[in-house]
Amino acid sequence: MTHSRLRDEMNGIVEAPGKVWFWELEAGVIDADRCIQCGTCVAVCPSNSIGINFDTDLPELVRMCTGCSLCWDFCPRGGLRYEALWPPSTVTADTESAAVAPVEVRSDSSDTYFKITGGPPAEGLGAVIEQFAVRSAARNEEAQDGGAVTSLLSALLVAGEIDGALVSVPSSDPDEPWKGVATIATTPAEVAASSGSFYNQTMALAELDLSAYALPAKPRIAVVGTPCEIQGIRAMQARRWPTGAHRVDAVVLTIALLCTKSFDYEALILRELEERRRIDLDRVSKVDVIRGRMIVEYRDGEIAVDEPVKDFHGAALKGCDECADFLGRSADISVGSVGSMDGWTTVLVRTERGRLAFQQARGKLDVRGLDDPAALIRLDNLDKRIALRSLERKFDPDAPLFIDYEEHVRNYEDTDRRPVTIRR
Ligand SMILES: Cc1cc2nc3c(=O)[nH]c(=O)nc-3n(C[C@H](O)[C@H](O)[C@H](O)COP(=O)(O)OP(=O)(O)OC[C@H]3O[C@@H](n4cnc5c(N)ncnc54)[C@H](O)[C@@H]3O)c2cc1C
Ligand code: SF4
Ligand code: SF4
Repeated sequence: MTHSRLRDEMNGIVEAPGKVWFWELEAGVIDADRCIQCGTCVAVCPSNSIGINFDTDLPELVRMCTGCSLCWDFCPRGGLRYEALWPPSTVTADTESAAVAPVEVRSDSSDTYFKITGGPPAEGLGAVIEQFAVRSAARNEEAQDGGAVTSLLSALLVAGEIDGALVSVPSSDPDEPWKGVATIATTPAEVAASSGSFYNQTMALAELDLSAYALPAKPRIAVVGTPCEIQGIRAMQARRWPTGAHRVDAVVLTIALLCTKSFDYEALILRELEERRRIDLDRVSKVDVIRGRMIVEYRDGEIAVDEPVKDFHGAALKGCDECADFLGRSADISVGSVGSMDGWTTVLVRTERGRLAFQQARGKLDVRGLDDPAALIRLDNLDKRIALRSLERKFDPDAPLFIDYEEHVRNYEDTDRRPVTIRR
């Protein structure tokens, strides 16, 4: 069933006034090259009318659209004002107090601390109950940083606190090396196989149609995702709507990966790395974007690529420029590399739910204070400035980028002065 045939069939239908149809999302976000492939529109559609076009990895209409408007309302690049989901920040420039200050976490739309559309800027790290640098006590060579996410999910599965976790694993298609695809891991071994970062979006929330998995009738699922994916979850959980096949109600924990940008798979891995730089993808052990540089490492320790990330800007998702949520403020826990030494994961515990989850794994982790919490704030400010500029460019396409990419890299270097170390 192709979306164009469906669209043709629907052309005779009189569109009721005041409704927003899928093709308005298609025109305003997908065809405008602004989609960040979060899968929220697929998950929210009550008539299961939206699927994934596996040639483009973008949403497409697979059944009749009823014009309910929800795909537009919940799309982070459409009608969703995701800043409204951010709990109140207790932190200002004094990042030390963030570690101890208790915080009331709410998610109603009155808690608007930052709007890229105007209003006062959100200061600090957002709602944070506890902040740590964390490393798996049993070293995890496959992990991206300290292996905190893998340890946490494994501990929660073993303790029976969750039945599964929405994670990313390597595609099984041999034509798609180094492509992450979304799946639900239900055992510690499956979680371990999901360690590490993929720099492509996976339409993750579409995987919340859990019918393909053997799970209890009332499953409890943790979601690991980029901040825009967590925004989609939080929005759907905060507002009632008639649900379709996707089990947003099953999500009991959200873990956001700190994120300034993601990439188009084909453009980054196949065009920039394999074709242009002749990288042997079979030999790659790790792809990392860190300190403003793209670093690709072979299994024997050779650094195959170490270049400014600006050289790969053409492969980045254009919709990421509009994103002001580097810190994943609406998650229960945010994790990243910035703020900690190499081999450690920065962990920001934001909610009571997140704190209880972290407690489950604590015995399996080395835990200490963050090395440089201010680095998180500097990168967050930079991210927001780019988002603001991106918004201004919508009204004046000729306006220069607020940050040129040389400055961007200098800022990264100021932000994160750790030397590059080879981990294996
Ligand atoms: C696109 C992207 C951009 C990022 N940008 C930054 C950044 O700018 N600064 C920063 O400090 N950190 C960034 N990170 C986070 C960082 O790379 C690590 O994921 C984080 O530090 C956790 O490390 P860990 O060793 O604890 O995780 P691990 O134990 O290795 O587990 C990683 C988990 O993330 C999941 N995962 C991997 N790729 C994806 C994906 N594409 N979508 C959803 N889930 C995924 C895996 O399935 C696994 O569950 C980014 C991650 C991604 C995917
Ligand atoms: S950004 Fe997300 S919600 Fe919006 S069209 Fe793309 S996949 Fe759908
Ligand atoms: S930069 Fe923002 S929009 Fe892009 S993948 Fe990361 S969280 Fe999503």
